[in-house]
Amino acid sequence: MVDCIFCKIAVGEIPSNKAYEDDQVLAFYDLDPQAPVHILIIPKGHIGSAAEITAENSRIVAHIFEVAAKLAAELKLDQGWRVVTNVGKDGGQSVLHMHFHLLGGRSMAWPPG
Ligand code: 5GP
Ligand code: ZN
Repeated sequence: MVDCIFCKIAVGEIPSNKAYEDDQVLAFYDLDPQAPVHILIIPKGHIGSAAEITAENSRIVAHIFEVAAKLAAELKLDQGWRVVTNVGKDGGQSVLHMHFHLLGGRSMAWPPG
């Protein structure tokens, strides 16, 4: 998608600090980390947000969670971790390409602000 920053990161047009990559997804470290481990996991193909998940494209979400579990194990987040996807204005979404935040390395508050 033209002018989508995460589409550009997905194809390497904008550099990122990669944590994992395959043909379907890319995981890279967030520029503004909110925890000792803060990785963004994105589908390489453009999906605007989780609000656009349908029966046709939902398999990518399962794959993203597989990648999250693999990264959490590799990074030894043995005390736990969190996956968050923000949707729309009230959800606090600032980049309009679906992404899942993998956060760990500290105790998390609940409910989120
Ligand atoms: P959102 O607020 O949409 O849920 O999350 C967007 C996230 O993307 C933020 O945590 C922000 O720090 C991160 N981000 C925005 N632009 C870039 C970028 O160019 N590179 C990286 N690595 N992270 C970015
Ligand atoms: Zn995109």
